[in-house]
Amino acid sequence: MKATEKQIIYNLLKTADAYECGYTREKFAVEPLFVDDVEKTAAEVTNPAENQLAENLSKQTEPEHSEPESNPSVNDKAAFVPAENSETGGISLDELNAKILRCTRCALARTRNNVVPGMGVTNPLVLVIGEGPGEEEDRQGKPFVGKAGILLDKMLNAINLDRNKNCYIANIVKCRPPENRNPLPEEEDACFSFLEAQIHILKPKMILCMGKVAAEKLLNESISINSQHGEFFRYNEIPVMPTYHPSALLRNESLKRPAWEDLKLFRKKLDELEGSQK
Ligand code: URA
Repeated sequence: MKATEKQIIYNLLKTADAYECGYTREKFAVEPLFVDDVEKTAAEVTNPAENQLAENLSKQTEPEHSEPESNPSVNDKAAFVPAENSETGGISLDELNAKILRCTRCALARTRNNVVPGMGVTNPLVLVIGEGPGEEEDRQGKPFVGKAGILLDKMLNAINLDRNKNCYIANIVKCRPPENRNPLPEEEDACFSFLEAQIHILKPKMILCMGKVAAEKLLNESISINSQHGEFFRYNEIPVMPTYHPSALLRNESLKRPAWEDLKLFRKKLDELEGSQK
């Protein structure tokens, strides 16, 4: 295949991906330099005897312990040479929210009253991620405004975090799953690129995942919240801690103590990060 043809396919993929996500993802941030696949020259095709001779000669002149082939023009794989990318391909938070508000990617669009993109400051220290809007959130179009939200605010305030000052609050799915059931995998998948875009735009220093559903989807691995709450993971180099969902604390008071220990650890790490960046 010709380099120009590869470039066309790459550009199509990049454009489609950016259209879907609302921004240019990291994996498309560098411009690869494609080279043509090896194609037989006219001489190779028409004069096999001469070819054989040339091949034998080149074998004889090769050093005994030659390195593996490194010339990109005789490599079947396209050479991937990072280059400065001139376009940022970025969209603003407002533009992203406008996209989220008109989304119909999954069936939740048919039962929602309001989409809940998220709320908070635009340069947050911390991104808090929940599971999905509940009844009150669906009514108001804002995240964590019901009973669990009141407790979440108290938890955040206890470690000097505040959705109006230094946090942004978002959810894995932006529309309410009926009867407050967990979001289905296809609903999470349909919505996930919005969260990826939010993280890309907001660039939080740390992420706090409220509960198993949020942590598992963000980290793309199975998490036992009872044994892994308070541990640090990473998402694109950003430290991530899963802790108990405030609804779980409302159901089971005994979880408040371990959740508080998690929050203290989270704050300590945040202070360390902030200190190292001063
Ligand atoms: N629970 C969540 O996970 N998110 C909300 O926004 C509200 C309740």
